Amino acid sequence: MGKITGFLEFDRKDEAYAPVKERIKNYKEFTKPLKESELKNQGARCMDCGIPFCHSGCPLGNLIPDFNDAVYKGKWEKAAEILHSTNNFPEFTGRLCPAPCEEACVLGINEPPVSIENIEKNIVETAFKNGWIKPEPPMNRTDKKVAVVGSGPAGLAAAQQLNRAGHTVTVFERDEKPGGLLRYGIPDFKMEKNVIDRRLEIMEQEGIEFKTGIHVGVDVTAKELQNEFDSIVLCGGATVRRSLPVQGADAKGVVQAMDFLPQNNRKVDGIPFKGEDISAKGKKVIVIGGGDTGSDCIGTSIRQGATSVTNFEIMPKGTTERPEGQPWPFWPMRLRTSSSHKEGAERVFSISTKRFNTDKDGNLTGLVTVEVEWIKQPGQRPMLKEVEGTEKEWKCDLVLLALGFTGSETTVADQLNLEMDSRTNIKASVADYKTNVPGVFAAGDQRRGQSLIVWAISEGRQAAHYVDKYLMGESYLPLKGEGDLPRV
Ligand SMILES: Cc1cc2nc3c(=O)[nH]c(=O)nc-3n(C[C@H](O)[C@H](O)[C@H](O)COP(=O)(O)OP(=O)(O)OC[C@H]3O[C@@H](n4cnc5c(N)ncnc54)[C@H](O)[C@@H]3O)c2cc1C
Ligand code: SF4
Repeated sequence: MGKITGFLEFDRKDEAYAPVKERIKNYKEFTKPLKESELKNQGARCMDCGIPFCHSGCPLGNLIPDFNDAVYKGKWEKAAEILHSTNNFPEFTGRLCPAPCEEACVLGINEPPVSIENIEKNIVETAFKNGWIKPEPPMNRTDKKVAVVGSGPAGLAAAQQLNRAGHTVTVFERDEKPGGLLRYGIPDFKMEKNVIDRRLEIMEQEGIEFKTGIHVGVDVTAKELQNEFDSIVLCGGATVRRSLPVQGADAKGVVQAMDFLPQNNRKVDGIPFKGEDISAKGKKVIVIGGGDTGSDCIGTSIRQGATSVTNFEIMPKGTTERPEGQPWPFWPMRLRTSSSHKEGAERVFSISTKRFNTDKDGNLTGLVTVEVEWIKQPGQRPMLKEVEGTEKEWKCDLVLLALGFTGSETTVADQLNLEMDSRTNIKASVADYKTNVPGVFAAGDQRRGQSLIVWAISEGRQAAHYVDKYLMGESYLPLKGEGDLPRV
């Protein structure tokens, strides 16, 4: 795998970023690709480690040492085939995945791990550049019709797999364009939207129909879909936002991140948006929430021209090392610093917002915080405790709430009498992705709760296998761990 002594000869090399001053002038991606010779060396770092723990670190079970080896040998087309045998959309994960595979890489025990995510991106980009990614319509069509509700990564993966099995697939999406959070959550500077369009074109040529601007449950009832289609796959995401129910939360200037980010993505795309224009220009911005969404709010606010951006996180500041109790090859909860954090945000940890202050017209003027600590008792979950005498007032003109999501919307579930789980996601087991209603399946964030793109793709693929089996009695669509290595 790779070059047998590669990990001794070559250091890890990551893509460079354009300087902050330059990149914040626009919303374009700002990474600078490595040269082909450098990428080959990165592939060569993959060791012959015997048991590739990276396989299980990756929720898709990507065949990582195999594509690393192909890259090292310059066999890019073979690498692309290997990669696509387990992952429908490596151009999304190669840009956006937090790469749990790299945390599980054996080389990562005592050296920087193999740069798997970047290798993945370069394989798929090379494949697109050379025209190797072509529509793969099925040889034969079955007489079965499947409706996929939601066009995020879970819906797209399920649709592509089911179409390849020969079923006639229609994807319903309430937004004006397909993509889910890839298009209307994640900012263009992390992934430009032509990356989605390029893939959608191929899927359309494969025969998948996209019906956009259709809200299932409103414009067409779930029962109507049930009558028209042989099976339904629900991939509507976990869209219910967590609020911050403190005094003044209704102030003008306290805004949900998921009102701010989709609006900005529409502005970048030059398409109309609904509701009031939300702008960070000339404002002191506070982003509450330290995750991916918070980080995206920082980068977007800076590009819009905020005068300052401060980011609050209720959890304590982690270390960059693996914390005790989270050993290799598990995913460690360590301090992560995104490219947006480095663009000029002040990060404040162990802090909780008590109330928002307003002027007499209800406009936000500031907020009041308190420092917190987490008390750990053996056998119990850590408890939050406010630190006395630490109240502090912060002036600000715009607060962005990036506090995560509490679960899935229930309109479609109610119309179909679907059972929900205790976290308001649609109840369906990973054993077969079936809901309690025959023929109705659920996948992605709508089933597992707020998660990651790589998990959404994985769930879409898995669900497709079980839908196919439900429709045909058996399925040749691969399950995780069954990626088919191409013969070369
Ligand atoms: C701001 C932000 C940044 C993120 N950044 C990252 C990142 O960098 N890396 C990462 O791995 N993950 C990231 N995530 C998480 C990731 O985007 C999600 O886990 C993933 O998109 C979930 O995919 P999905 O297909 O299940 O749902 P979604 O992507 O949420 O797609 C669901 C789609 O269903 C549509 N829909 C819902 N109900 C209906 C209906 N009734 N009728 C018709 N259409 C409907 C919605 O409009 C939406 O388009 C981020 C999330 C957010 C919010
Ligand atoms: S999809 Fe994510 S976890 Fe899987 S190989 Fe790619 S970067 Fe790693």
